[in-house]
Amino acid sequence: MRAYNFCSGPATLPETVLLQAQAELLEWQGQGASVMEISHRSPAFDRLAAEAEQDLRDLLAIPANYQVLFLSGGASQQFAMVPMNLLEPRPQADYLNSGIWSEKAIAEAQRFGDITDIAALTVEDGQYRLTEPGGWALNGLASYLHYTPNETISGVEYGFIPPAGQVPLVADMSSTLLSRPLDVSRFGLIYAGAQKNIGPSGLTLVIVREDLLERSLAFTPNIGRYQIHAEHASRYNTPPTFAWYLAGLVFKWLKAQGGLTAMAERNARKAHKLYAAIDASDFYSNPVHGSCRSWMNVTFRLADAGLEKRFLSEAEQAGLLALAGHRSVGGLRASLYNAMPEAGVDALIEFMREFERGV
Ligand SMILES: *Cc1c(COP(=O)(O)O)cnc(C)c1O
Repeated sequence: MRAYNFCSGPATLPETVLLQAQAELLEWQGQGASVMEISHRSPAFDRLAAEAEQDLRDLLAIPANYQVLFLSGGASQQFAMVPMNLLEPRPQADYLNSGIWSEKAIAEAQRFGDITDIAALTVEDGQYRLTEPGGWALNGLASYLHYTPNETISGVEYGFIPPAGQVPLVADMSSTLLSRPLDVSRFGLIYAGAQKNIGPSGLTLVIVREDLLERSLAFTPNIGRYQIHAEHASRYNTPPTFAWYLAGLVFKWLKAQGGLTAMAERNARKAHKLYAAIDASDFYSNPVHGSCRSWMNVTFRLADAGLEKRFLSEAEQAGLLALAGHRSVGGLRASLYNAMPEAGVDALIEFMREFERGV
C-alpha cells in the first residue's frame, strides 16, 4: 500500500510513472535489456535523450538560444559550477540571501570571487517576509545575480522574478521548476536537482543561455564546464541514465496532465487549501507572510511544540509520511510537489482536524 509521501526530497513520484518503469524494468523498447543496462551512446538512448529534451522544451517553452543539460552532482555541485563558469567578465556577483539554500550557494561562490550577500529576507511581527527589490543594493557591473526562487526549508517563495537589468539572472529552482509556467527568457541560467519536482536523485537540470557558455574561469576542469557538457550533448562522461529516463517519463506525465498551466492551477489549489486550514486554527501556525508563501513546501508548527512528535507518529500511522521539518529548523513541513495528488492534501487536512480534536 503506497502512502501519501510529503518528503521534501527525494520526493514522491507519479504512480503511473513508477508503474511504467516497473513494466519496462527488465526489457525496454525492444532492446533485450533494461534502459539501465544499455550504452548512453546507443541510438536507443539518443532517442530517449532527444525526446526528454524536447518534452522539457515544450513544457517550459524554452527559447532556441538556450541549451538544456542533463548533469549529475545535484544542486550543490551547481553552487560551485555557477561561479566557475560565470564569474566573467568581472569576478563579482550579487547573491540574494533568502534562507539556508541561498546561504550555501553564497558560501561556495565566495571561494571564487567577490560575492555580495544581499539580505532579501526579514522577520516582521514574527513572520518571514521578502524585502522589496527597491531596497537591494545591486551591483550593475556584477557578472550575474543569483537567487533561490523557493527556499525549500523555510517555505518562502518569491512571487516575482527579481529585476536584474542587464545582469544575467541565475536561479536555483530545485524545488519549484515545473510547478507552473515560467518565462525562461528572463534568466541567464536555471538549475535544479531532480529529486524534488522532476525525477529521482542523481540528475540535475541546467538550462543556460548560449552566450554564457564561454566564460569559464581558466582553472575550471572539463567536468565542471557547461561548454564541454553542451558540446557532448550531456554525455561527456556517463550520465545518470536511469534517472534521465525517469525524468523523461515525468515530462510525458506532465504533458498528459495538461502541461504547466494545469499543474499551476492544481498546485495553487493544493497549497491554498492547506494554508487556509492552518490559518483557520489556533492550534497550527505558519511563519511565512502571505505574500511569499511557498506552493511547494508548506511549513507549520503546533501551538504546543511538545505535541509534534505525537503528530508525526500518528500521521505516519494514518499513511501520511515525512511531515517533519528540516533538521536545521524543526517544526513540520508538507511538500506538495507536482506528484502529490490533491487527495493527499485533503487527507492531510482531515488528519490535522482530527488530531486537533483528539488532544
Ligand atoms: C534540495 C535543494 C538543494 C540541494 O540539492 P542537492 O541535489 O542535494 O545538492 C539546493 N537548493 C535547493 C533550493 C534545494 O531545495
